Amino acid sequence: MYFGAVEAGGTKMICAVADDQMTIIDQIAIPTTTPQETLAQIFVFFDRYSLVAMGVGSFGPIGVDPAKESYGYILATPKKGWTDFDFLGSLKERYKIPFAWTTDVNAAAYGELKQGAAKGKTSCIYLTVGTGIGAGVVVNGEIFQGNGHPEMGHIRVKRHPSDDYEGTCPYHGDCLEGLAAGPSLEARTGIKGQELPEDHPIWGIQAYYIAQALMNYTLTLAPEKIILGGGVMNQEHLLQKIRQQFTEQMAGYMETPEVNEYIVRWALPNQSGIIGSLLLGKDAANQKGFLV
Ligand code: ADP
Ligand code: ZN
Repeated sequence: MYFGAVEAGGTKMICAVADDQMTIIDQIAIPTTTPQETLAQIFVFFDRYSLVAMGVGSFGPIGVDPAKESYGYILATPKKGWTDFDFLGSLKERYKIPFAWTTDVNAAAYGELKQGAAKGKTSCIYLTVGTGIGAGVVVNGEIFQGNGHPEMGHIRVKRHPSDDYEGTCPYHGDCLEGLAAGPSLEARTGIKGQELPEDHPIWGIQAYYIAQALMNYTLTLAPEKIILGGGVMNQEHLLQKIRQQFTEQMAGYMETPEVNEYIVRWALPNQSGIIGSLLLGKDAANQKGFLV
């Protein structure tokens, strides 16, 4: 019995097939070009299997409300050719099986909850700090989405006193993503994040913003675990700086788990999203009675 999953990103589509133990038996990465070209390659990969169900964790924003016409669509993305593309519909047309459909970060949060850093918990937040900033939320063991999905990367943050950078977000300028995603590091310093030395003052500014976001999420949702992923979080010293800032900013107001246990790195590096998507696909099959 095989399950399929797609972790759809703006740069690449990771496609995987797993057996009923959720062990991945086949996986590829397909470059994200035009929807037609990309889908053709996705079909070549999955056509070789007889799948029971499929889970998709997609870059967004996406339509997640089944009552709306936009359900399954990629919405206002800057990625050329993908705006208002019926991604889920195109997959469903090809494969007449149950589908799960959510954001890439929601899928990653679910993967980490079931098999990663938040295993055994019922709630967590997964935050990626990469080309953009996005977060996924699991509450009571289920992905949280309502009238659309949260966009927690675009919250407002208080400015660091020594930062006057205008921000990279095309919508808001200096929202969290505008001030703290990977491209903002390079825009401020002229140096790519991965090449910035550990003692560069930018990391203090970076930690100040991310810690504020984590405090706001904690105050709003009180999750059991916050998991950080994405390219920028490869800076190990940054995690420690974020924890320190978080503790300082929270100022003892709210009780959280011990900070080193509470704010952690992903446990499934680069795999949280695809594993979460597989698990969601299996859940979808269960709900539709496809698995007995
Ligand atoms: P994406 O978000 O596109 O899926 P990544 O999570 O790898 O991809 O994020 C890419 C961004 O992260 C780029 O802005 C890059 O400069 C930055 N980045 C990647 N690796 C590191 C690193 N080791 N340290 C700091 N920044 C990094
Ligand atoms: Zn923004």
